[in-house]
Amino acid sequence: MRNTLVEIYCRKCLYHTHVKSHSFIKPDLEPRLRQKILEERMFTFVCPICYEEVTFIHPCLYHDTKYHFIIYMGDETKDTSALEKQFPTSKIRIVSNPKQLKEMILMLEDGFDDQILHAIKQRLKRQDVHVQEIYYHDYDSFSKTIWFCFQYKDDFNFKAIHENVYRSLLRDGKGDGI
Ligand SMILES: [Zn+2]
Repeated sequence: MRNTLVEIYCRKCLYHTHVKSHSFIKPDLEPRLRQKILEERMFTFVCPICYEEVTFIHPCLYHDTKYHFIIYMGDETKDTSALEKQFPTSKIRIVSNPKQLKEMILMLEDGFDDQILHAIKQRLKRQDVHVQEIYYHDYDSFSKTIWFCFQYKDDFNFKAIHENVYRSLLRDGKGDGI
């Protein structure tokens, strides 16, 4: 696995160090890294002096060979044509921060079309003036519901939609070429 050296500054006590992080992640070979991303621990560092949590970010490529997708976290204008050529059967996505990376992994592992889920999130956001962000949470196959986490200023909440909403959008989306 490729590593990168990240410079860390603690805002609270000004402790300064460098830490090794991962710039290329293959979850089938290193499932613990996938787990760290999902637990939102991958891009954080705890200051050994004052225990402040420092978050950092650097470009990173996540290549899932089981579900056939590649997620690049970094500059949203990145040219992915070389990746597309090299991995023609993989979905290629770009995200800009660790939270979006986590969400994209979950959506693609669960087999969803992320663009349709994004459209649903936009719709849900318009219906709730107080919500700051909405993230895909998971899929409940028993009740056929898709769960989202709604983040408010000091709080969060889980809300679900029925899978049929997604299915009908997917069907319409295909017809309209969205
Ligand atoms: Zn510190």
